[in-house]
Parts: sequence; structure tokens; C-alpha cells
Amino acid sequence: MCGIVGYVGKQSALPIIIDGLRRESYRGYDSSGFVVFEGSDAVCKKAVGKLENLEKEVKDKEIKGGLGIGHVRWATHGGVTEANAHPHHDCKKNIWLVHNGIIENYRMLKEALIKEGHKFISETDTEVLSHLIEKFFQGNLEQAVVKSLKLVKGTYGLAIVAKDDPGKIVVARNSSPILIGVGEGEYMVASDAAAV
Ligand code: GLU
Repeated sequence: MCGIVGYVGKQSALPIIIDGLRRESYRGYDSSGFVVFEGSDAVCKKAVGKLENLEKEVKDKEIKGGLGIGHVRWATHGGVTEANAHPHHDCKKNIWLVHNGIIENYRMLKEALIKEGHKFISETDTEVLSHLIEKFFQGNLEQAVVKSLKLVKGTYGLAIVAKDDPGKIVVARNSSPILIGVGEGEYMVASDAAAV
């Protein structure tokens, strides 16, 4: 089972995300990744193998954004590659998400989305969610997520962010854990209490 961490608040999100992922890593994982929003940029890094490999990617880099999500993956669909590591994004790199679980009807959804013109870049079941949410997104992320999940069969813990609906992390769960930590002017989400 993988791990999810998200943070939104006044602090830099990245150190909190990395620390949380480290605390969730005891269950085992094969790759990791994060996205942090910095102004109008989405800074995303992924690495295969140990969390230290991801940390090396960001060493000496100033990433200070106060909103981000991260993931340690245990692959179920698609090999252990950087492209398959989470987060996954939509065609416009607006919607980004991390997922714990299995989307059982992803093939059918993926075929339909490809016919509608969506471009997939990974082999995962997860990526279908970012394109499905893109299809329904009209400026309000939670509304798009609610519409999308009505079509989805499977298990999920999800943390989702959108550049075009800033300042929020939307979470959803079905048979996978997600918890929300509430601070003063800051929030954390995680798939395991150990991260919080
Ligand atoms: N099914 C997803 C994948 O293979 C998520 C796996 C996980 O829970 O880590 O990427």
C-alpha cells in the first residue's frame, strides 16, 4: 500500500511532504514524487527507488510554495518507472493527483477519454482520474471530482490539486484511508497518521 501526503498553508510545503512520506515509507514502496505550486508554476519531481533519490533531485533547489501533494508508490498497474510514478496530471498540467488503490474500470474510461482526444503518458490505472476530472472541470475542483468519481469503480484514497482553482487540496476516499490534519491557517492530508 502506498502513502499520500499533502500540505496547504503558510509554510513551505515540500519539507513537510518529504518528512511525511518518510514516515509512511515503512510499508514499502518502489518510487516517489511530488508537485508543489509556486506562483503560476507546478514544480513536479519523481524518482524511482528510495525516497533519498527524490531528495537528491531537489537538493540545492529553492522550492518554497505553500501548497503541494506527494506520494510513495507501490505499483499495481504499470511498471516501476518515472512516468508511472505519481503525481499524475491532465493534458493541460492543471489538475494533479496522487492515488492509493486500484481503479478497476480504468480501461473502459481510458478508451473513451482517448477517443475524446486526451493524451495519456503513463501505463497506470491512476492517470485516467486526472483526465476524467479535466473533462468535468469548469473552475471548481471539488465539483469536477464529485462528477468524475460517480463513474469510477475501485478503491481510492486521493489528494487532488488544480492550478486553476488555487489554495485547496481536494481529498476523496473509498476503502483506502485519508485523514485531514487541521492547524491554524494550515491543513495536512495523509493516508497514515504517522505522517501527521
Ligand atoms: N494503482 C496505482 C498505481 O499502480 C496506485 C498504487 C499505489 O497504491 O501505490 O500506480
